[in-house]
Amino acid sequence: MTDAVQNLVAALAAGQVEVVDLTQPLSEETPILRLPEPFANTPRFRLRELSHYDERGPAWYWNALEGGEHTGTHFDAPIHWVTGQDQDDVSQVPPGRLVGPAVVIDHADRAAADPDHLLRVEDVEAFEADHGPLPEGGWLLYRTGWDARAQDEAAFLNADDTGPHTPGIDVACARWLADERPILGIGVETVGTDAGAAHSFDPPFPCHSFLLGAGKYGLTQLANVDRLPPTGALLIAAPLKIVGGSGSPTRVLALVPR
Ligand code: MN
Repeated sequence: MTDAVQNLVAALAAGQVEVVDLTQPLSEETPILRLPEPFANTPRFRLRELSHYDERGPAWYWNALEGGEHTGTHFDAPIHWVTGQDQDDVSQVPPGRLVGPAVVIDHADRAAADPDHLLRVEDVEAFEADHGPLPEGGWLLYRTGWDARAQDEAAFLNADDTGPHTPGIDVACARWLADERPILGIGVETVGTDAGAAHSFDPPFPCHSFLLGAGKYGLTQLANVDRLPPTGALLIAAPLKIVGGSGSPTRVLALVPR
């Protein structure tokens, strides 16, 4: 019997499979979510130097990490939302659910024309008519082109006095993806899985509410989604195994056939 892992190793070595990094760099400059008063906000990611080949540690350089769980490219575990409060924290997500196929729906053109653009059920059904059903045990990645703004926090959050304006998913589609499709979750390029205006939806933040409530996951602030085909990539999402954690900065990699 053929060894599938050895076949993958050979394909990687031969350049038949490319590893694409879907992760944004994590630094003090990484854009973070901004909630209005009276809600608590997340601290920025920060390195606090412990020693740097100096009297504090002559032969070694190391740092303490500071920052929120939901910073940069990160994973939302079901327990993050009140609807998923009895479900898995990030350390409890089964490892088999951290590796799975990914499909990409590309609405970058529509989001460029309308920053409040929302994905609808009929858009996903149109994708399925062309590319087959959303993958069981896999991810729906929603490309909006928002990654081009990821180095500029003001442009990335795109807020005015009416709140943030970033693309997302409408209420009906969020409910349908949670209840009617066998996916692991959704991945987006924006600061969160919900649209910027989703504070005003009914219910508010429907992606968080329905998907996490259904035991599914979110991946945010992805990069390089434009380098993936509509179908055929394998996604590896590796959040830190934070006991009791609601999420974690995550290295997200895609294996893509070339
Ligand atoms: Mn989050």
